[in-house]
Amino acid sequence: MFREHTKVDKPLLSMYWAASCGGCEISLLNLHEKILEIDAHFDLVFCPCLVDTKKAGVEALPDRGIAVTLFNGAVRTEENREMARLLRHKSQVLVAYGSCAYEGCMPALSNLSTASEHMRTIYIESPSLDNPTRATPAPGTPVAEGELRLPEFFDRVQTLEQVTDVDYFIPGCPPEPRQLSNVVDLLLRGAPLPPKGSVLGAGRSTVCDECTRKKQDKIIGGFHRTFELIPDPDQCLLEQGLICMGIATRDGCGGLCPKVNMPCTGCYGAPEGVQDQGAKMVASLGSILDLGRAKGGPSGQDRIDAILDAIPDCAGTFYKYSLAHSILKGKMG
Ligand code: SF4
Repeated sequence: MFREHTKVDKPLLSMYWAASCGGCEISLLNLHEKILEIDAHFDLVFCPCLVDTKKAGVEALPDRGIAVTLFNGAVRTEENREMARLLRHKSQVLVAYGSCAYEGCMPALSNLSTASEHMRTIYIESPSLDNPTRATPAPGTPVAEGELRLPEFFDRVQTLEQVTDVDYFIPGCPPEPRQLSNVVDLLLRGAPLPPKGSVLGAGRSTVCDECTRKKQDKIIGGFHRTFELIPDPDQCLLEQGLICMGIATRDGCGGLCPKVNMPCTGCYGAPEGVQDQGAKMVASLGSILDLGRAKGGPSGQDRIDAILDAIPDCAGTFYKYSLAHSILKGKMG
């Protein structure tokens, strides 16, 4: 039930999910008892996963009536974009919360195919389907009673910033509770907020800088997949031939994945000042790979091809979280 918020003197907070998995909502719950502080200081006016507020209730709020909106999820459909623009209009501070809203994250890997290619795969070609009329979802479907409408499924997944004006960005898939807690403290203290456009709750450097593994500036001869070896727990994973994205990823998570012997996959996005995380990673690898002729082995282009063959999915490895935000944005043409 939508409450009469104009009589409530606590500032309003909202949280919305667009194209996402729900992990960002879990990250809010992972604040544990801190969530009571949020409840004491804010009124959660809109959060489809927790509060039964309708879109009409948001539309009825005064412009800029919501103090802070945490918007998670990428923009995949017309509905996602409509809600992004509505919440922008109704919020004093709009935060792109989590990797999907910030950079497109895994939903944006679908930018490697067009919307019609997705529809054909999902509704026509999938072997488990029974779809004799080859029906696919469409924005408008005429029926006897009128027209049934579905939100348009866009050709490209976009980031929040690509469809509306964003004040701040909180990276992570999902954001680490400790980092979110720091941002909440900032809001609760009423401290002056950082300049518009800042990345909150994360560092400015790279995961390598907060990773405690030993680095030796080693030149590596090729890559392994994680199931092919048990890495040394103390040495840099990249130097052991595992593709660890820490070198091209913003710090702030505490180096959690390398701590448990797993390579960083890059969910905090590019470090400060780097526009394209995947390009940064490829450039970094170029400087540490041994492209010289190994004894008896291939040289030149053959060697490069052999190294690349050991990476089964270059786009999914180097742009797992950042394709929509990258210079490439997706498949061209
Ligand atoms: Fe740590 Fe990975 Fe950086 Fe190596 S590449 S120092 S394992 S974060």
